[in-house]
Amino acid sequence: MQYRVNPRNGQELSALGFGCMRFTRKGGAIDQEKANRELKRALDLGVNYFDTAYAYAGSEEALGKFIKAYDCRDRLYIATKLPQYRVKSAADFDAFFDEELRRLQTDHVDYYLMHMMNDAQSFERLCGLGLKEWVAKRRAAGQIRNVGFSFHGGTLQFKALIDAWDWDFCQIQLNYMDERTQAGVEGLEYAAAKGLPVVIMEPLRGGKLAAGLPKDAQRAFDAAQPKRSPAEWGLRWLWDRPEVTVVLSGMNDISQVEENCRVASDSLPNALTAADMDLYRRVLDAFNSSTRVNCTGCGYCQPCPRGVDIPVCFAAFNSSYVDGLFTGMREYLMCTTLRNVRSNAGLCVKCGKCEQHCPQHLPIRDELDRVKKRLENPAYKIAATFAPKILKY
Ligand code: SF4
Ligand code: SF4
Repeated sequence: MQYRVNPRNGQELSALGFGCMRFTRKGGAIDQEKANRELKRALDLGVNYFDTAYAYAGSEEALGKFIKAYDCRDRLYIATKLPQYRVKSAADFDAFFDEELRRLQTDHVDYYLMHMMNDAQSFERLCGLGLKEWVAKRRAAGQIRNVGFSFHGGTLQFKALIDAWDWDFCQIQLNYMDERTQAGVEGLEYAAAKGLPVVIMEPLRGGKLAAGLPKDAQRAFDAAQPKRSPAEWGLRWLWDRPEVTVVLSGMNDISQVEENCRVASDSLPNALTAADMDLYRRVLDAFNSSTRVNCTGCGYCQPCPRGVDIPVCFAAFNSSYVDGLFTGMREYLMCTTLRNVRSNAGLCVKCGKCEQHCPQHLPIRDELDRVKKRLENPAYKIAATFAPKILKY
């Protein structure tokens, strides 16, 4: 296993982190014995960063049971997440966190994240409820060691959040397809330049970069030397970047654990060649041939006076063609709608201000109309109405 040093505290974190959100289930419940075997194998192969969340049903409990069964709390770091969107009062911070400690059967959390915090307004809302004072209290008690946030918004919001507080770390979605979407490489470099360790989620875009690739993309990988699976190419792209600290993989199979640990063991920063980079470009071209809006995600069109997150709307729209309608809609809902302040295409009033700034000269108003027609469909409207009630936004 390769380890990367957390620049904030000197801890050596395994380059591969175990994402505990995809454990195998039997009759709805997590198969604890199988999860234990996978977690133990990862631990023995050197993984020391285990990521879970309050919102991952049964996951914190499963990780807690594993740690207790193998008496291995001092061999690993626990990362878990506060469902910040459900916090409505100062007392909720205590209620959620104490429940997480109980579930994890531990007295402290090493890396504690504000879950899915996608804009600075959400952070300000939490500050209004006393977040900073609460963290200071739990930190002083040794119960929270590092505090950060996980993020699914756009680059500009990401930078604003990074600047909003003295965070210890952050977690972003990144892979070779998302180089310019969400926080993107620009966000990665921004956070790293501020001395923050960056944890990566969705390294294979929920498996889209591992299987079922467009034919031309698969052909390009098949013809490449050395022979590697698409998943290995995807992971190596991330570990090539020195700014990346931990790459999370949601593993639920021993062979997957062993394969990912093998790749993580010899993936050094700056190891990819010019030929490798050319391969990624060709694979991306194959993916992008299904792309509908040529938005680069530069953000020059922002801010929109109505709050429309234009690059994020276009990224989800493109994803709905590349990855399928369901995935695009999920991304659209998560990044523009299931949040405290909405930023979906339907908010556009066609003032045209954004188009004056777009270096790609995109007809943004017309494109947003297409986004709205495709993604704000009846299923979206139902989810947009009921999900906030279920999630208690
Ligand atoms: S045209 Fe629409 S998206 Fe563009 S700035 Fe105006 S309201 Fe915002
Ligand atoms: S300015 Fe144009 S290319 Fe840049 S993010 Fe906005 S729409 Fe996309």
